[in-house]
Amino acid sequence: MSVTPVDPTQPYDSDNIFAKILRGEIPSTRVYEDEWAVAFEDIAPVAPIHVLVVPRGAYVSWDDFSQNAPAQEVAGYVKAIGNVARQLGLVEDGYRLINNIGPDGGQIVPHLHVHLLGGRTMGPMLTGQ
Ligand code: AMP
Repeated sequence: MSVTPVDPTQPYDSDNIFAKILRGEIPSTRVYEDEWAVAFEDIAPVAPIHVLVVPRGAYVSWDDFSQNAPAQEVAGYVKAIGNVARQLGLVEDGYRLINNIGPDGGQIVPHLHVHLLGGRTMGPMLTGQ
């Protein structure tokens, strides 16, 4: 996988790896799906539970999504993220959501995704320099 940071102003690339996962062209371990979103395990987990929640729609980033997605799609995606956390039994102990945007955010894959992390205490919010 390329580790070139995403240019958040680029147009959507339908050949990105999460688009291929959504189309079933490459494998993933799906843990949830509904009309608006799909969630699957991150291939390089950094916590006991590390799931990526992606909208079915074609959006590069949170900036693209928050600007261009219809309200129903925004609501559907936000609710799906909560559904995934509840389905995984994370509400009582808590969990962390992360969304990386563009070069400073550390975004690598140019399809909007929220990292859902749980199963241990997450510690300080940032450890990078
Ligand atoms: P980000 O830096 O926010 O763009 O994060 C991209 C995430 O996608 C990283 O945590 C990767 O480990 C994860 N990832 C990349 N390729 C795959 C894949 N084929 N299946 C599951 N997760 C992946």
